[in-house]
Amino acid sequence: MVEKDAARAWIAERRELVEQRLASVEQRLATVRGARSEWSDEEHDPEGFALTFEWQQAEGARREHRYELAELDAAEARVEAGTFGVCEVCGQGIPEGQLELRPARTSCVACVDGRR
Ligand SMILES: [Zn+2]
Repeated sequence: MVEKDAARAWIAERRELVEQRLASVEQRLATVRGARSEWSDEEHDPEGFALTFEWQQAEGARREHRYELAELDAAEARVEAGTFGVCEVCGQGIPEGQLELRPARTSCVACVDGRR
């Protein structure tokens, strides 16, 4: 069983990292939004097209980061419930090294890879 304090620390650390990434993505979106408004005919303009691509990438990254923050909330709830660190698939404890890297995970690497 994972120590609750250790689990909370991993989650807090990961949350800080994801929040930093989210902030930089938001900044990128704001920059691209500003640049894009200067391109009226972006469909036929290669530079406008590149901006659209960059925009889509940043949007995708933002969605991922927000999703992970929600997952971290869920992980915190599992810490309180005492189910943190238990693989949802095989019911075994997830190795601590895997949790430390990605505390939001709900299954062990073996189950994710389908090796079990
Ligand atoms: Zn498993």
